[in-house]
Amino acid sequence: MMQRIADNLARLRERMESAARRAGRDPDSVRLVAVTKTQPIDVIRAAVACGLLDLGENRVQEALPKLDALVQAHVRWHLIGHLQRNKVKQVVGRFLLIHSVDSLRLAQELGRRAVEAGVVQRVLLEANVSGEASKYGYTPDGLRADLPALAAVEGIKIEGLMTMAPFEAKPDQTRPVFRALRALSEALAGRAGDTVAMGELSMGMTNDFEVAIEEGATLIRVGTAVFGERLPEAPD
Ligand SMILES: *Cc1c(COP(=O)(O)O)cnc(C)c1O
Repeated sequence: MMQRIADNLARLRERMESAARRAGRDPDSVRLVAVTKTQPIDVIRAAVACGLLDLGENRVQEALPKLDALVQAHVRWHLIGHLQRNKVKQVVGRFLLIHSVDSLRLAQELGRRAVEAGVVQRVLLEANVSGEASKYGYTPDGLRADLPALAAVEGIKIEGLMTMAPFEAKPDQTRPVFRALRALSEALAGRAGDTVAMGELSMGMTNDFEVAIEEGATLIRVGTAVFGERLPEAPD
């Protein structure tokens, strides 16, 4: 199992590097978040032993026992899936970065709980730039409108944007979505004030991470290319 992950990782890192070089970017400017959803603890331990330190989970309920099991491993956990306000208390201070803040009320609840806990929670704002009827994420207009209020929330630190692109059979067709996220980030950076950084762009998954890197991704979220095909997820 460890050999398989190590092999997958070597191939993946090569592809990440080539994509970065094609775009004239420093390969070190792209961080891999290995998505461990549905993977059992022993597989995750093997991944950590292969040198993976940034791990992503999309569901709080599934993630917390894994965080507990791996406290010794100095893993940097990323919450990449939708977060409900009633779960905020359980996640604040436990995840290095929450990628999926998609409303002012959620940001305010995160801020409130972070202040209570005496921590600063780092977050990304999730944007839905594809115009597709995706369930979550700010519209670009919604994000522009909320940005001043988001910037004023105490207890959180906004570090950039995240998007979930629709799956395309041809990865290159995702390019306009990634380009749009980057353009939005650049437009917002000008008006965000100094409490908001727009340096991080979380975009790209197994199917399209190379295109995402070419378009400026600083964080890619990859599961299948690291671990192999997942079993289907149970419905919520
Ligand atoms: C599952 C998931 C990924 C990774 O998907 P792969 O196609 O397996 O790389 C990335 N981001 C989010 C939000 C996910 O839920």
